[in-house]
Amino acid sequence: MTDCLFCKIAQGEIQADVVFEDGDVVAFRDINPQTPVHVLVIPRKHIVGFSDLTEGDEWLVGKIARTAARIAEAEGVAESGYRCVVNNGPHAQQSVPHLHMHVLGGRQMSWPPG
Ligand code: 5GP
Ligand code: ZN
Repeated sequence: MTDCLFCKIAQGEIQADVVFEDGDVVAFRDINPQTPVHVLVIPRKHIVGFSDLTEGDEWLVGKIARTAARIAEAEGVAESGYRCVVNNGPHAQQSVPHLHMHVLGGRQMSWPPG
């Protein structure tokens, strides 16, 4: 996908504070952090959102989840707690149409979300 912000970050065309990457996923700090730790985990593959996952992507979702857990550990919030969020579509206010998992932590959060 040529005109996608997160594809460009994954390809290194747009700078980001990358905390982890491998051949499948990239994790980088959110430009507008909502919590002391706020990292986005994305697949390198362009998938618009959660609803656009197709058969064969199951392993990739597991990879994203496992990466999020490893980042929480590395960022020191695994014990205090953290939240993994995937916003999908307008009601959830997804603003970037490339699948991403937010990893949020480092302060007390409330529930339910607004
Ligand atoms: P969404 O609202 O789609 O769930 O989350 C998109 C996230 O991407 C937002 O938290 C926003 O701050 C972040 N974001 C948007 N543009 C950029 C950017 O250019 N760089 C980084 N690092 N994060 C971005
Ligand atoms: Zn993309």
